[in-house]
Amino acid sequence: MAVSETSDARIGADVLLVGGGHAHVAVLADWIRRGVPRGLRAVLLTPEPALRYSGMVPGWLVGQHAQSDGLVDLAALARRAGVDLVLGRCAALDPEARLVTTADGRAIAFGLASFDTGGEGQGAALLGDDPRLVEVRPIGALVERLASSRASRRGLSRVVIAGGGAGGVELAFGLRNLAGADPRPEVTLVTGAGGLLPGFAGSVRARALRALVRAGIGVIAEDARFEGGVLMAGGQSLEPADCVIAATGSAAPAWVRASGIATDAAGFLSVDAHHRSLSHPHIFAAGDVAARIDRPLAHAGVHAVFAGPVLAANLREALAGKRPTATYRPRRHSLYLLNTGDGSAILSYGPFSAEGCWVLALKHRIDKAWIAKYARLAGKA
Ligand SMILES: Cc1cc2nc3c(=O)[nH]c(=O)nc-3n(C[C@H](O)[C@H](O)[C@H](O)COP(=O)(O)OP(=O)(O)OC[C@H]3O[C@@H](n4cnc5c(N)ncnc54)[C@H](O)[C@@H]3O)c2cc1C
Repeated sequence: MAVSETSDARIGADVLLVGGGHAHVAVLADWIRRGVPRGLRAVLLTPEPALRYSGMVPGWLVGQHAQSDGLVDLAALARRAGVDLVLGRCAALDPEARLVTTADGRAIAFGLASFDTGGEGQGAALLGDDPRLVEVRPIGALVERLASSRASRRGLSRVVIAGGGAGGVELAFGLRNLAGADPRPEVTLVTGAGGLLPGFAGSVRARALRALVRAGIGVIAEDARFEGGVLMAGGQSLEPADCVIAATGSAAPAWVRASGIATDAAGFLSVDAHHRSLSHPHIFAAGDVAARIDRPLAHAGVHAVFAGPVLAANLREALAGKRPTATYRPRRHSLYLLNTGDGSAILSYGPFSAEGCWVLALKHRIDKAWIAKYARLAGKA
């Protein structure tokens, strides 16, 4: 399995982690605690030296967290784990030749690889292209863009959020309650024809709708689309809008399907219950880029986080030449805590819902504990 540097200056990795996402940080944690399996050469390929934790972005917008608060220091984790960090973006995968090519043309040969790159924005594909369109993915780029708009006090007076899922709802609350903004931005949430918070219990949707109305956020249950440079929904113009944020869910990266690896119909990398590729057993994946074939799994950070330790165990087994056996079995319901930006939050757990400042306190406690765990592992706390 060992792969070494070759004469054409390819990078060689026995084990290659592609994407410093919410699952791979758990793999790095495992390697910090127990060492990289068998002392093999490990490489992490990811574009940024830090991972932005999306759960704290709405809290940052309303001034509950500093911009630097919700970051996991991937560079420090990699250093501590004895993993070589290569800053770059995977643009192509050849699963047969065991080769990844970066967007800037570097080649990385691997023995075993694991992918946790997240999905890509699909706002332009769904709404049409427009200079005012901002994708929520990558989330780090969204934060940079919103931070510079906020600093220049331009471009955030009238905001439209497209997408009625949990991310879109929280961004609507966050932007309506934007810290330091006077007057507050006018915010419209265009949920799509599927309505507000599809898949959530009726009581959660009712609480969210009441909170949106209370906050003065317009809610339109139609699909939005740019037509001749005008943003339209349900036959009505939503202009003027100076920023349109697409929180319209994850699309599969094009390089996954182009690689010939097994994918689901939407192009996400198909994995079994052990997060191993169906077609290429030396490839693993977790998080939004992966699609479990044994059970449907929503694209949510919570699943990437909980699949991380399972992935770490299976990579260890596979690198020892054994059959991976660890399985990520999600709980029947996932806990969602939606920050309403006014000092309160809405709790959703299957059919159960609640709201209040204690829910926000619980959210902050969970989020900060997750960040603090990785700060400790990175040697920063
Ligand atoms: C505003 C907002 C709030 C949210 N809140 C929640 C929440 O409270 N709870 C929840 O469960 N979910 C939440 N989500 C969804 C959650 O953000 C995603 O499901 C989660 O980030 C997916 O994790 P991941 O590890 O798959 O990918 P990511 O977290 O997107 O990590 C991917 C990593 O791979 C890197 N990368 C990307 N492309 C490449 C490439 N080509 N090559 C190499 N590296 C690459 C990225 O830089 C990043 O480091 C929220 C989303 C939004 C937009």
